Amino acid sequence: NNQFYRQYKLIVLGDGGVGKSALTIQFLRSHFVDDYDPTIEDSYVKHSVVDGEKAVLEILDTAGQEQYLQVHFYYFYYLFLILDGQGSFSEVDHIIQQILRVKDVTSFPMVLVGNKCDLEYNREVGRDEGRKLGQTFNCPAIETSAKERINVDEAFHALVRQVRIFNKEQ
Ligand code: GDP
Ligand code: MG
Repeated sequence: NNQFYRQYKLIVLGDGGVGKSALTIQFLRSHFVDDYDPTIEDSYVKHSVVDGEKAVLEILDTAGQEQYLQVHFYYFYYLFLILDGQGSFSEVDHIIQQILRVKDVTSFPMVLVGNKCDLEYNREVGRDEGRKLGQTFNCPAIETSAKERINVDEAFHALVRQVRIFNKEQ
């Protein structure tokens, strides 16, 4: 019976090489791929239970950013944003500000993810960057490792939780 499943459309954004595909595949299939074709863009469906409630996650793993800079796109997707330790995902701030303005809301469901926390150098830079952005946009910032399967489910589930809170407030 479908009425008990709620669907969540998530888009995974971030610069090339930050681990969008590795994290998505780790979440879906519980294994680490370290040579995923960087040009492949695909969407996947996963049935999960988050806080005891069923959820169908439709996850779009992107490759290449340009088409996602269109604000109208985000009417249909919630954002799963992956930063790397270099602070190079500079469009994030810009995209979020635009979404908030166009939708005329003060917050929007998203989760900031600092991936590759198994690498020490990434952890130090990424932690700081993620925390600051998370505070600015009032959203969770989570450190993950697709390689070691650290906080992978937690990160995706955090976004489902954010969507639920958002929907209750509307
Ligand atoms: P995408 O371009 O954002 O989809 O990045 P990929 O998922 O293809 O990953 C890019 C590279 O980073 C690959 O060589 C992965 O093996 C590596 N990688 C991804 N996630 C992790 C991680 O959590 N830890 C480490 N050490 N390497 C990772
Ligand atoms: Mg990829």
